[in-house]
Amino acid sequence: MIIPELPEVETIRRQLLPHLPTLVVDMNVSPVVSSILKTEMFSPVGKTLIDINRVGKVMDFIFDDGNHIISGLGMSGAWRFDKQYITEKHTHIQFECQNSEGQIFIAYVDPRRFGKCHFLDEVEAMKKLDALGVDISSDQFTSEYVLTLCKRFPNKEIKPFMLEQKYFAGIGNYIASEVCAHASILPTRLAGSLTNKECKGIVSGVKLVLSGSLEKRGLTFSGGHTDATGKKGDALDNLVVFHQSVCGICEKTKVIKIEMKGRGTFYCPACQK
Ligand SMILES: [Zn+2]
Repeated sequence: MIIPELPEVETIRRQLLPHLPTLVVDMNVSPVVSSILKTEMFSPVGKTLIDINRVGKVMDFIFDDGNHIISGLGMSGAWRFDKQYITEKHTHIQFECQNSEGQIFIAYVDPRRFGKCHFLDEVEAMKKLDALGVDISSDQFTSEYVLTLCKRFPNKEIKPFMLEQKYFAGIGNYIASEVCAHASILPTRLAGSLTNKECKGIVSGVKLVLSGSLEKRGLTFSGGHTDATGKKGDALDNLVVFHQSVCGICEKTKVIKIEMKGRGTFYCPACQK
């Protein structure tokens, strides 16, 4: 089971953006929508959806009156787009929209309902977004930033540390294993032991993994993530250690799997020190 990470969320965002701006003319919700709602809902009917941003794994839908819907996808959430009413099971929120193409439908689908939706005004939305960490695809994610974090938390093991969204917004389990491999560092290394050069390796590793995964629309595993059109991603070809038997960097050493804080962690004992 793969949980949506930054490339998966960004893929959905990029698929929806060409259909904006769009006027919401109707909204339908499922009987169990309250389980994903973390605030009261406002009705977006009559408002125009003008933009969708992303910080880490969180999507931010922005309306013309300054209201926002902030959506975290949890384990199995996704936003869908279609020209027809979306009848997929586990559709919890659906907007019927009108734009220059005619009628379109945008819906939130989530079988396991671990996703969270916040309907917020501008002030509340900014507060919520500011509390998220530095997005790993942004210009603020630099080796100086990583080095500062490592000095601040010297006793944290680097791989589980990278999963902490308030410091590394957008890194998830497969990205963390892959980045350690590209940076040639063991996932068990203590943050305080990382050199400036190794922090640079983490930043370039993140860029490499993100560009590869985005090109391929994110990962796929059975029962896992699907994009805004319901298709599975195909970025598995790019992986060097995550769920691999032989290391994709040296192409000869057997990959070792360990558990760190309950999450499967993969590394090459020859390439990573
Ligand atoms: Zn190797």
